[in-house]
Amino acid sequence: CAVCYHRPPVCVCVFNTLFSFILLFCFPPADCKLNTDHAGVLLVERRGSYPLIDLQILKSRSLLGFLDWILSCSPAANSICRLSLSFQRYCHASRLLRGLVPRTPVSLHLLDDGYLGQAAHMLSKVATWNFDIFLFDRLTNGNSLVTLMCHLFNVYGLIHHFQLDMVKLHRFLGMVQEDYHSQNPYHNAVHAADVTQAMYCYLKEPKLAEQLSPLDVFLGLMAAAAHDVDHPGVNQPFLIKTRHHLASLYQNTSVLESHHWRSTVGMLRESGLLSHLPADMSQDIEQQLGSLILATDISRQNEFLLTFREHLDHRDLDLELPSHRHFILQIALKCADVCNPCRVWELSRQWSERVCEEFYRQGDLERKFDLEISPLCNQQADSVPAIQTGFISYIVEPLFEEWHRFTEPSLLSRTMMGQLHQNKARWSRLRYARTPSATQMDPQVEEPEPAGSSGEEDGGDIP
Ligand SMILES: [Zn+2]
Repeated sequence: CAVCYHRPPVCVCVFNTLFSFILLFCFPPADCKLNTDHAGVLLVERRGSYPLIDLQILKSRSLLGFLDWILSCSPAANSICRLSLSFQRYCHASRLLRGLVPRTPVSLHLLDDGYLGQAAHMLSKVATWNFDIFLFDRLTNGNSLVTLMCHLFNVYGLIHHFQLDMVKLHRFLGMVQEDYHSQNPYHNAVHAADVTQAMYCYLKEPKLAEQLSPLDVFLGLMAAAAHDVDHPGVNQPFLIKTRHHLASLYQNTSVLESHHWRSTVGMLRESGLLSHLPADMSQDIEQQLGSLILATDISRQNEFLLTFREHLDHRDLDLELPSHRHFILQIALKCADVCNPCRVWELSRQWSERVCEEFYRQGDLERKFDLEISPLCNQQADSVPAIQTGFISYIVEPLFEEWHRFTEPSLLSRTMMGQLHQNKARWSRLRYARTPSATQMDPQVEEPEPAGSSGEEDGGDIP
């Protein structure tokens, strides 16, 4: 259904959709087209984290404008339109309905067995570092996060271990996947699935795998899947300067991460996924999830990096201690969150372009509303290669160098470092190609690729 995204057999607003189409073709307003964007507008309208779109609704002729126009010209249509709007709002607001009827925002067609067979085949290789999450998302009809999480929970026997109810698990995962904004070029459910797949690879590191308890694995996967849920596609400084209610709620500190965590807790409680566990255990899980998700706040990067470095220098990490395992889970999640530049170039490049597109959209919004354009958000001044070389140099490389030490180093770690250096050199060359004068400003522009980074050994896959 183009309005509520439900598949035809269970579409709850089929009448509403038909009615809208009939009205559209009978009384087309001059500047109104009914397309899937309108469904997007309605979808984001219900989200508390996205008042920006409210501004757009006010300033543009959208489906709501079209319905207002209908209301004003037809008394007979008035009550039906009101009914249809309230019904839509109910459908979008009702987690119960959304849980029972998972939506597939990307594509509406049903998959044939061939697609599902290919997706199943990909899952058999989910531990490989060159796993193509974009392809997997297409093969699963936009359900990569739910499909991947169910598979990994089965692989680890978590459903049996925690006596989880499958219906509640599906409902929870469906809520999480759905609450990612598919309109975001980067912070969407595919990013969450990508981080979860990376987290799985890190949990399988020989240094770690034997030490982890089922609870550690459960927390690691859950935190990865939900770490950016309901991300509005703008950063914290934007929320602060626009006096967004989330910034006030969380007192301008780890605003987005706090929202991701509290949203996750809300969905856990609403789905009842942990309701059969003792209260102190479910409370502990909620707190640990918070500690993991809050660790992804990039402004706390140095704090974590210094502590990690100190542990490695003193060789005092004891993975038999739950607190030390928790710290390593925090670091693993941070690595998984920013691991795009460590992927094979073709995947890495797509992520880079997506994140920059999201930055540029924020910059466009800031320009539109006469706000100061945030760093990295000016499409005219901040090129993708320049953003990526900075991101790799200041954020990714320092973190993965320490992770490399921690794994002593593993085959996967050597693969990641090799690809990281190759990708950095490639972005530097692209940056140089765009701005010849950059050679005077950036000593790393002509940086040669590190020895061994271009060979087969480092570019290889993990077993
Ligand atoms: Zn993230």
